[in-house]
Amino acid sequence: MQGGQRKLFDSCLPKVKLLYFRRAFLNRCPRCGEGKVLKDLFSREEFCSHCHLEYNRENGFFLGGVPINYTLVCTFWILPWLVAYFFGLISVALTVVGTIVGAVAFTYLGYAYCQCLWLGIYFCFAVSEMPDLNKDISIPRGSSSNGK
Ligand SMILES: [Zn+2]
Repeated sequence: MQGGQRKLFDSCLPKVKLLYFRRAFLNRCPRCGEGKVLKDLFSREEFCSHCHLEYNRENGFFLGGVPINYTLVCTFWILPWLVAYFFGLISVALTVVGTIVGAVAFTYLGYAYCQCLWLGIYFCFAVSEMPDLNKDISIPRGSSSNGK
């Protein structure tokens, strides 16, 4: 890469990273911004329907959604319950029941979306891993386009 091109690339890098994350945050493919990542609340697509990017980068890749889900549930569900208990707004029994029920429910409901967020965060920090949009990607495995 030439010096001028390198400077241009470096100046655009923060915008590109933010773009990848924003697309994933909005449930869109981080590469093209067209295909959806999630099929529904509980499951995700394997490939982008538009650019055929394989979302799963390697075995166990989407385990990265677990710490994101954990962080979000702790921050936005369990911590408020504990703060309310600390200030005497609710009883200990209500705190225990509320935190446990909510933690289980929100973990189940939010895990697929957290996988989507993980995909965006991954490409935010590993921009060089993103396949070039202009480069042709082979038809995804499992596709029934050839009838086999
Ligand atoms: Zn795509």
